[in-house]
Amino acid sequence: MPGKTTPPGFQPLETPLLLKNLTSAELHQKLAPLGLTARHARQLQVAAVRHGDYPRAAANGFSARLLAGVRRATAIPRLKLLDRRVSPRDGFAKYLFAGTDDARFEAVRIPLLHKAGDQKYVVCVSSQVGCALGCDFCATGRLGFQRDLTTWEIVDQVIQIQADSAHPVRGVVFMGMGEPLLNLNAVLRAAQIFAEPCGLAISAKAITISTAGIIPGIRRLASECRSYKLIVSLTSADPRRRRELMPVEQAHPTPALIAALRDYHATTGQRITLAWPLLAGINTSAEAARQLAGLTRGLPVQLDLIDVNDPTGRYRPPTRAELDAFRDALRAHLAVPVVRRYSGGQDIHAACGMLAAAMS
Ligand code: SF4
Repeated sequence: MPGKTTPPGFQPLETPLLLKNLTSAELHQKLAPLGLTARHARQLQVAAVRHGDYPRAAANGFSARLLAGVRRATAIPRLKLLDRRVSPRDGFAKYLFAGTDDARFEAVRIPLLHKAGDQKYVVCVSSQVGCALGCDFCATGRLGFQRDLTTWEIVDQVIQIQADSAHPVRGVVFMGMGEPLLNLNAVLRAAQIFAEPCGLAISAKAITISTAGIIPGIRRLASECRSYKLIVSLTSADPRRRRELMPVEQAHPTPALIAALRDYHATTGQRITLAWPLLAGINTSAEAARQLAGLTRGLPVQLDLIDVNDPTGRYRPPTRAELDAFRDALRAHLAVPVVRRYSGGQDIHAACGMLAAAMS
């Protein structure tokens, strides 16, 4: 009977291969013994990633026997969507997902709908369940670390949000729950699936990977030489103050971090974005601006200022007057672009630092 026999030389796989978990090149390599060509692998990727299904045999040059073999060797996993909230205030949307073991994590859809004719979304994805780094101003950090997400669990966040959206997803930011550079294999594979033309075809330049400052991960990203954008959460240029806010400073100290960023720039030619959560009275003084200028002298950076969102109330964003004074100090000391980032979705706890795997 067609599709029942195992081709000679094909070693049955121990567990089904999970589509959405592998790049098309990896699918080709793993399924080539079944007779799958590189073209078939790309078609398989398109069908699984864009339609959550297998290709139709006749329309795509798959023989019935090949398709049956692929179906037996693979599975198409899917996250459970537990909840979804859209902010009536600014249109940000938060999605609560569960993976195979019911571990919960969130993704946020960021609307960029202001430009007529170019209405699109960016999706902020999680890379881990919880986070081990325990930044003092972050709700995810207070959860502790539960586990890494697999590639397909990262990829499916965007697939499901795209399926739920009226406009295309044109960008992905790895700034949800977790530290992406501590789950870098899964993150890089997911980014590749986002970018490949037979995946979600999102421009590599519209994919942003953030980090709290994991130095080996930054060095590996530089050696991979992709076009992804790197954002480093610096928060303070004073190592003592930074250690209080971000315990990662102990293992990855600021001077070594800045040296890694200088090397990153030398290798990739890219300007690095430094994220600066605004913590009034802590990192918004003229002295903080002076220290930042000294630390980054000669390094092309952009500074992204983001209001802190701390539901515990221990940290607060600056008032208008405090922010203006800080911006003046930055202008006086630093000749780099400074961008004030809108921190949306606060009313649905979807803003930066608020993701805690719960809909409240
Ligand atoms: S800010 Fe990022 S790295 Fe720090 S605890 Fe939160 S999720 Fe982890």
